[in-house]
Amino acid sequence: MRFRHSFLLGCLALASGRAAARRRVPTRQPSSSSPSPASAPNEPDYVLRVYHMNDIHVHLDQFNAQGSDCGAGEACFGGSARLKQYLLDHRPRDRPSMLLNAGDETTGTLYYRAHGHEKIAEALNELNVTAMCLGNHEFDGGIDGLHAFVDMLGFPVLSANVHLPPPSNGRPSRVGRYRVFPEYGVAVVGVTTEDTALESKAGHAARFDDVIRSVQAAVDEIYATTDIKRIILLSHIGYDVDQKLAAQTTGLYYIVGGHTDSLLGSMAGAEGRYPTVVRNKDWENVFIVQAFHCQ
Ligand SMILES: [Zn+2]
Repeated sequence: MRFRHSFLLGCLALASGRAAARRRVPTRQPSSSSPSPASAPNEPDYVLRVYHMNDIHVHLDQFNAQGSDCGAGEACFGGSARLKQYLLDHRPRDRPSMLLNAGDETTGTLYYRAHGHEKIAEALNELNVTAMCLGNHEFDGGIDGLHAFVDMLGFPVLSANVHLPPPSNGRPSRVGRYRVFPEYGVAVVGVTTEDTALESKAGHAARFDDVIRSVQAAVDEIYATTDIKRIILLSHIGYDVDQKLAAQTTGLYYIVGGHTDSLLGSMAGAEGRYPTVVRNKDWENVFIVQAFHCQ
């Protein structure tokens, strides 16, 4: 199996890159053309495209280079409609792909003050997200607000290190530690920054375990209980901690990150390469990506 992370969305920035290494499965360099028809996940020429986004912060409308409302004659960026059109134009309908959201959809524009989570959820469901992890700002509406937001979403929301109080309405929490996607041959584990306990109004009501131990426990459980050969970490812990976690764990192949809005690539001012490659404890490559925030 090979991964192709074709782009990243962030609130506006796009980047492209490819991952060619792997775990436990032979690989070769990706080519510009994909096998057709799509092969199965256990076949060596299988390609899974991974689209990712993070830290949108309720930028449902497009905006200008300063992050303000975009007026006539200005260059406009971002916005849900632009993301949707990009996905319609580029996300293949006949080949396997995932859209992963690395958290912090909440708080940032008047949409949230006026409509709470409702419009955010509508926009995300329109984008056909595959899975999302909890960001620290998902706690800004309190624990019940977080649960209500997750209930509006038509895809799994994940965090392996967060222990949430149950909703006060008695319904079970829909936040899971990880999700196995046998149709793609991968599992996705979520993780959330431990700083949420200090930075968020509602963070003190939840328990945040050590990110490295929590992720490793989830990874070990997946390999012990499934035949999944590849695990993606959907992370809201920041670029530096992503690299530390990658180096101090085993079994992860790919980290889709968020939280620090890190610019990755070969351009001037980039914090690191896209993808950033880190050797794990087994001396295997882990590929780290994140979307840059424009503001
Ligand atoms: Zn964050």
